[in-house]
Amino acid sequence: MIAGAGGMTGLDAVKAGHEEEEECLFFVAMSRAKRYLTLYAAATQADGKRRSPSPYIEVLGSALAAVDEPALFRPSRPDPAEDQVAVERAEPLVVTAEQLSLYAKCPRRFFYTHILRSAGGRRSTAFVEMHDVVYDIVGWLRAGPERWHLPLTEVEQRYNEVWAEKGPTENGYAEDFRRAGLELVQALIRSRQGAPHAPVSDIELTAGAVRVVVRPDEVRQSGKSVVLRRVRTGRKASDEEDDIIYGLYQIAARQWHGDGAGVEAIHLTDDAVTPIELRPRKLANREAKMQELTSAIAAGHFPRRPSDRVCPRCPHYVTCGPVPDGRLVIPSEQK
Ligand code: SF4
Repeated sequence: MIAGAGGMTGLDAVKAGHEEEEECLFFVAMSRAKRYLTLYAAATQADGKRRSPSPYIEVLGSALAAVDEPALFRPSRPDPAEDQVAVERAEPLVVTAEQLSLYAKCPRRFFYTHILRSAGGRRSTAFVEMHDVVYDIVGWLRAGPERWHLPLTEVEQRYNEVWAEKGPTENGYAEDFRRAGLELVQALIRSRQGAPHAPVSDIELTAGAVRVVVRPDEVRQSGKSVVLRRVRTGRKASDEEDDIIYGLYQIAARQWHGDGAGVEAIHLTDDAVTPIELRPRKLANREAKMQELTSAIAAGHFPRRPSDRVCPRCPHYVTCGPVPDGRLVIPSEQK
C-alpha cells in the first residue's frame, strides 16, 4: 500500500512516477534554449519500423514547426573523386592485422590514423584508461618471455606501478577502476596457465605491394601443437569471428607451423578463451580479402564510410572531409 497513491497498484505508482520525471526532464531541457530550440526525433528504428515521437511534443502544438528533413551535421556522402590519394613513400608500407582490420571498416580512418598518423582528439575516460593500463601489461608480458613464469604478485606489482603512472588516479572512483583492472590482469594470468609459452615474433604474410604482419600477443607451444593468441580486455562480440583479423591469424599460424597450428581469442572481461577455427572456404575468402585490401591501400584508395552510428565516436569526425589535391610524400623514417 502506498500512501497517496489513490487506489493505484505499486507498479502503477512506479510507472506514473517515472513518466512524471520524464516529463519534468523534457520541459527543463527545453527551458535551457536561449534563442532557438530544435528538437530531433528519429522517425524509424534500427530495424526499419516506424518510431512514434514523444507524446510531450504534441503538448507544444503549433508552437513547433515540423521539418521532415532537418539539416544534420555529419560527413557528406563520399565523392569517388575524393577517395584517391597519391602517396609516395620512401619505404614500403607495413601494416599489422589490426590496421588492416581498421581499413576494412573505414579506409579513410585508416588513412588518417596510420598514413597521416593523426591520432585525433580521442576523449579518454577513466574506463578507457583502465583498459589501456591492462593492455600495457599484456604488451609487457609479450615483450619478455621470462615474465610468463613470474608469480602473480610480481605481475600485480607491475600493474600497480603502471597504474600509478598512467591510470585515472584522479577519478573519484579510481580505486574501483584499479580493482576492476586488476581482476582483468588476474584473468589474463589464469588464461596463460597450462601449456608452455614460446617466444613471440611477427609473422609476415605475402600480400603484394604492402607487407602485412601478424603480431600475436602470446604463442603457446606444446610438442608439435602451436597456438597463436590474441588478447582483448573487453567482451567477445557476437560477430567477432567475422573480423578479418582472425583470418589473418589463422593464415599466419599455418604459414608458420603447418595445418595443425591454431588460434585462440582471449576476452578478459568474459574470462574466456575461445578457439577460432575458420573453415577452408572462409579462410580462402579472408585471404582473397587481404589481397584486395592491400591492393587498394597500395593504389591510394581511401574512401570514407560515413555511418550515423560510428562517425560521431570517431576521433576524426570533425575534420573528416575532402582531401587536398596533389601528392602526399612520406619521407624515410631513418635519421
Ligand atoms: S568520421 Fe566516419 S567516415 Fe570519417 S574517418 Fe571517421 S569513421 Fe570514417
